[in-house]
Amino acid sequence: MRRKLAAGNWKMNGTADDLAQIEALTAAFAAPSVDLLICPPATLIAQMVWKKGAHPLAIGGQDCHTAAKGAHTGDISAPILAAAGATAVLVGHSERRTDHQETDALVSVKATAAYDAGLTAVICIGETLAEREAGTTLDVVRNQLAGSIPDAATAANTVIAYEPVWAIGTGKIPTIEQIAEVHGFIRSELTARFAAEGEGMRVLYGGSVKPSNAADIFAVADVDGALVGGASLKADDFGPIITALEATV
Ligand code: PEP
Repeated sequence: MRRKLAAGNWKMNGTADDLAQIEALTAAFAAPSVDLLICPPATLIAQMVWKKGAHPLAIGGQDCHTAAKGAHTGDISAPILAAAGATAVLVGHSERRTDHQETDALVSVKATAAYDAGLTAVICIGETLAEREAGTTLDVVRNQLAGSIPDAATAANTVIAYEPVWAIGTGKIPTIEQIAEVHGFIRSELTARFAAEGEGMRVLYGGSVKPSNAADIFAVADVDGALVGGASLKADDFGPIITALEATV
């Protein structure tokens, strides 16, 4: 049985003033029945870890370098994230793939760096609008899964986030049938390659998840939770999404 996960990606948003959101979230969900993860800017990781105290909320990075340390100005490594108190890291987010030309091969090495540091890698994949319209979504997803997930992936160290690029930050989401089709396909690819470990890997949906659409998305069979961008910034928005996920447990 896969434990559901509600993950928030704060992207390049947030300062110490926003730690109040963590206080509100942990107060509202004192004993959550799903896993919770927030990935803030790296500057806030240690402060969030301190702020949440013993609460099971996990704190994660948004990216990591392939190397553990060295001459890479402006980058952050998986061991540095772990030392700050992070337990997970996003790799291969579409904004990284676009802004920094990250390839599947690079994402796979980053995921391995995360494993080596004891972090869970949240590996992000998803098709562009042009790929969706060309009817190649499943081919794109198959190739991204094959290229971005290391052979060492397990149910414990890997989460997959299916995020159609055209749905991120746009307010547009695929139909429920389209989400079901891709999540079912991802599950079959994972079990074909990783057997029982693949059956245990959680697959999140991401892309314009909001309090108003969360329940419908979470009702889809192979959706194990969500990776939420904009609506994770405020506890008042993220809270109802968590509540909708808890309702499925
Ligand atoms: C994301 O950043 O991964 C994301 C899904 O963003 P949004 O929820 O804002 O579409």
